[in-house]
Amino acid sequence: MLKHKTALITGSTSGIGLGIAEAFAAAGANVILNGFGDAAEIEAIRSRLASEHGATVRYDGADMSKPDAIERMIDAAIAEFGCIDILVNNAGIQHVAPIDEFPPGKWDAIIAINLSSAFHTTRLALPAMKKKGWGRVINMASAHALVASPFKSAYVAAKHGIAGLTKTVALEVAEQGITVNAICPGYVRTPLVEKQIPETAKARGITEQQVINDVMLHAQPTKKFVTVEQVAALAKFLCADDAASITGAILPIDGGWTAQ
Ligand code: NAD
Repeated sequence: MLKHKTALITGSTSGIGLGIAEAFAAAGANVILNGFGDAAEIEAIRSRLASEHGATVRYDGADMSKPDAIERMIDAAIAEFGCIDILVNNAGIQHVAPIDEFPPGKWDAIIAINLSSAFHTTRLALPAMKKKGWGRVINMASAHALVASPFKSAYVAAKHGIAGLTKTVALEVAEQGITVNAICPGYVRTPLVEKQIPETAKARGITEQQVINDVMLHAQPTKKFVTVEQVAALAKFLCADDAASITGAILPIDGGWTAQ
């Protein structure tokens, strides 16, 4: 389904991004991985995806908080593949603390990685998509693009910002065969969520088990974590021709969280 397409997925060395990279490589796309981690582990992921799916898989370790590095990554991808047909803005970090204790450096990092990086990748990748008359931009937002939770000021602000960016760019390119959408997962049990269990326990003064049952799964009427595979399947569907009329959409996949 994605043969002859090139997909760049930011933050794809782990969690949701890695799941999307797997799904896209399995569908025949060339994949550019990005993100941090152990060099040998990343190379093992890269070569496994390439050999299992016969795909061309590259890795670029650009730091998504750095506009210069983002520009170098996009330029290199376009130089090799001609176009980034599918851009998934997925890299993200979290920090949980009351606002009067929220470290300003963490605020800046979250806004840079979770929001501004998508501005930079999108502005740099769009011209080649416009030339082709086809493109897909998928922004990994969150249920926190639609509703807030206490102690996540930077994350909620960044994700609400991503929703606004998604709608704006969708309107700008609507007549050019390019769709721009945001996926809004509820809780998915990735390293990002594992890390915030003890942080949330501290901020709320409860145990880690209470965070899982009374905060995370309490938010989701299904009482289940969303899975990486479910989010990846939605991302893949957004790349299909059948999804050509879905644009500017802010799509929850949250077990009913934001229906409440
Ligand atoms: P994760 O921690 O497993 O993955 C995050 C990825 O981003 C990793 O590959 C990491 O190396 C990369 N990354 C972090 N900082 C980076 C930087 N400066 N430059 C480049 N890459 C960087 O987390 P995840 O849960 O898979 O999160 C992926 C996205 O999904 C994030 O945008 C997150 O906000 C969003 N999300 C996650 C959940 C959830 O419950 N896990 C829910 C809603 C939305």
